[in-house]
Amino acid sequence: MASVPPEFDPLCGNQTDPAHLFEIDGTHFWKCRRCGLVMLHPQPSDEELARIYSEEYFDVTGRAVDPEGARQVKIASFRWNYQHLNGKVLQGGTVLDVGAGEGYAMEVAQEMGLEPYGLELSADAVKNLRKKFGDDRIFHTDIEDFETTRRFDVITMFDLIEHVRNPHEVIAKAARLLRPGGWLLLSTPDIGSLSARLMGKYWVHLKREHLYYFDKKTMRRLLEAHLQPSLIRSHRKVLTHQYIAAYNERYVRPPFRQLVRAGLWFIPKKAKMVLSTGELFAAAQKPLSE
Ligand SMILES: [Zn+2]
Repeated sequence: MASVPPEFDPLCGNQTDPAHLFEIDGTHFWKCRRCGLVMLHPQPSDEELARIYSEEYFDVTGRAVDPEGARQVKIASFRWNYQHLNGKVLQGGTVLDVGAGEGYAMEVAQEMGLEPYGLELSADAVKNLRKKFGDDRIFHTDIEDFETTRRFDVITMFDLIEHVRNPHEVIAKAARLLRPGGWLLLSTPDIGSLSARLMGKYWVHLKREHLYYFDKKTMRRLLEAHLQPSLIRSHRKVLTHQYIAAYNERYVRPPFRQLVRAGLWFIPKKAKMVLSTGELFAAAQKPLSE
């Protein structure tokens, strides 16, 4: 049984009496009674996180089985989300992708007429990104340590904020790196989503390396401290049969795994589906004048 509650909630500063939600294989999940932020406590050490983020980590999309298929899924999803900004138009300029990974979000940004830059921690990924986008476009650092006099028109952070130890520091830094009127776009698992509520401790996004879990309300609260949130909605991904099958086998636990397997049987192998995957998507703007 977990005896130590989180000493510190970085979202609202609440230091007392969080609710213990559940435990999964020794990992304890807590919820702040004041703001609703869900957090993991104790957090894994830096060493453990480094182990988790090994080369193998990026294989969740079935890249090893079907690299081109995995790439298509990612590209199509980024494209869909860029194209559905509800009238918020990104008018060219520069974009900084934080946690650029394989560079798919940068590729789509380029396609949308933006000039992409990327931050990435993995040395292997940096090597590949530099080949693709040029040495001057890729920085081998996290956002906290990134220093530049440049100000960006757009900053993107897909599936990043749930991994960081201090979400406020990261959003504050993003706000500083944006030009006045610039946009931050981000996605993260949504613990208030239907799938989270239905699946409880079996929810696929509960992972040892996800330190904080937001819903639309706590995300608004985080963003509002630094920017003007203008769109917070369910995130959509464009998924293929094969992607869902690979993800299901790796991450979904019984009995849900068997249910998804059975469901897939009814879906044509070539089908592409725009699905809400239990994540949220947010767009927030830096005020024109401060
Ligand atoms: Zn709180």
